[in-house]
Amino acid sequence: MPAIRFRSALDRISSYRPTEGANGAAPPRPLSANETPHTPLPGVVEAIAAAAASAHRYPDAWCRELSRSIARAHGIDTDRVLVGAGSVSLLQALFQAFGEPGDEVVYAWRSFELYEELAELAGLRSIRVPLDDAVHDLPAMADRVTDRTRLVVVCNPNNPTGTVVGHDALRAFLSRVPETCLVALDEAYIEYTRAPDAARGRELCEEYPNLVVLRTFSKAYGLAGLRVGYLLGAADVVAQLDKTCLPYAVNTVAQRAAQAALGLQAELAHRVEATVAERTRVRDALLARGWCVPDAQGNFLWLGLGAASAEFGRWCMSRQIAVRTFAGEGVRVTIGLDQDNDAFLKAVADWGDAPESAAPERGGAAAEAAKR
Ligand SMILES: *Cc1c(COP(=O)(O)O)cnc(C)c1O
Repeated sequence: MPAIRFRSALDRISSYRPTEGANGAAPPRPLSANETPHTPLPGVVEAIAAAAASAHRYPDAWCRELSRSIARAHGIDTDRVLVGAGSVSLLQALFQAFGEPGDEVVYAWRSFELYEELAELAGLRSIRVPLDDAVHDLPAMADRVTDRTRLVVVCNPNNPTGTVVGHDALRAFLSRVPETCLVALDEAYIEYTRAPDAARGRELCEEYPNLVVLRTFSKAYGLAGLRVGYLLGAADVVAQLDKTCLPYAVNTVAQRAAQAALGLQAELAHRVEATVAERTRVRDALLARGWCVPDAQGNFLWLGLGAASAEFGRWCMSRQIAVRTFAGEGVRVTIGLDQDNDAFLKAVADWGDAPESAAPERGGAAAEAAKR
């Protein structure tokens, strides 16, 4: 039988391997996937159960009720909202909207690893701009935008380093990007952000019609298992992106659960505040031990361990703590339940001193690795 000839891009993409400990599998302390440790908000499970009764029907292809609620929450028209099966499917829609020969996408590195794969699949050339001390280097990114650039992705807060870009810095960046080039702000963790000067993406959308903002119900809202996210942007941009989405992608159960969760802002804020307080506690404990941890604005911390990353990841695993390891660069640890965070701090204490790459003098391991 002749060998099946797939697109050569597939050879450059590795199969997605879920992080160890995700999906509820062992080990028991799941700090690897940036999930909330809280079960769905009150009433959400009931909304899910009720929606199951209509499983013999196709879902609302336009997610009308949910889109209206999201639009109302942001004070914008419904035609500026696009709901998708997780924000990754909207990211895919974005990347799929470009990709003529020679088209380029600019994003920071290290950032969300999926950007690289989506670029390959879309046939876009990736321009990866190294982080500057774990933070997006927006001036350097603007320098790399040319007339071939169709898309720029800014992850804010950045996964995995947790840092944010400032509002004025992002505005200055947007003023340098041609209006023909789309900029996507991935705000998967924005609910956890407390930096007073952090970029307010939605506001900047009013000023820059080439800016879209991505949000998700997977992280703070606690619905990772149901796959719902959304995009906010100019109506004509939304209409174009909609064409690249599969119809009926967001099922009824997910739509109703997101709708219910959206109405529970007070309870959500309460949970998010608890995670933010834990983030401060865990980070302060690490700083006190001499570790360098970038300013964390998501529900996770970044340890720039450099060459010691894999060994540290295995050390955590041996203590039944799943963390996300980026070999040669660093380790990302999710803020989980208090007792799981305590177990992590204990593991750190038993590990010994912070390696040089994660100590304050350097801390640039991620930036070093990004120069590869
Ligand atoms: C988790 C995450 C998402 C969310 O993905 P969903 O498909 O909505 O679950 C998007 N972007 C980044 C950077 C993330 O870390």
